[in-house]
Amino acid sequence: MSEQLTIALSKGRILEETLPLLAGAGIEPEEDPEKSRKLVFETTVPGVRLLIIRATDVPTYVQYGGADMGVAGKDVLMEHGGDGLYEPLDLAIARCRLMTAGVAGQAVPEGRVRVATKFTRLAREYYAAQGKQADIIKLYGAMELAPLLGLADEIVDIVDTGNTLKANGLEPRETIADISSRVVVSRASMKMKHARIQPILDRMGEAVARRQTQ
Ligand code: AMP
Repeated sequence: MSEQLTIALSKGRILEETLPLLAGAGIEPEEDPEKSRKLVFETTVPGVRLLIIRATDVPTYVQYGGADMGVAGKDVLMEHGGDGLYEPLDLAIARCRLMTAGVAGQAVPEGRVRVATKFTRLAREYYAAQGKQADIIKLYGAMELAPLLGLADEIVDIVDTGNTLKANGLEPRETIADISSRVVVSRASMKMKHARIQPILDRMGEAVARRQTQ
């Protein structure tokens, strides 16, 4: 019997862009995860199944052995901290930037700055590295509203085209990190299931390279 292997993914852009790369490694879900409410999907490869969970839960599932490997944005991985995880492959998908932003034309206060974000750990580290005192306010969504309503001086958020900021009267300021989706593998699974995992990483890596030269 083949060894069970569980791969954690999140719905939306990452799933959409990861499925063709997994298919490049010969792994395809038996049913379309975008069209089903199921959370676990068997695949065309016996013993390999996909878990569909929230993006922010992917590193946690992999860290604690609920999944052997997964795909998550570098933003989510940095915020999680990466304990117990290897990050062997950059899929170069879902590219964006983690940035600071504020009300267009409004200067950042001289002293303490109030920052609204869902990336509290990253924001704390970033402002500390800048030598700037920051009060970090945790929000779960619609960060763009915070500066407009006087809740914060700046936000730390994901920016792709910049349209969301612009539509809300905000301007992008500093880039904290360039983001793309990465494959993560738990240290334990990398050791115990190496023979199973390495060929998948190799074939996904080849699929990424093919995509980049197309
Ligand atoms: P945009 O208006 O193109 O700058 O997109 C900004 C919004 O889309 C952000 O507030 C994010 O929530 C979301 N977004 C765009 N790209 C990504 C990505 N690669 N990963 C996660 N969220 C994204």
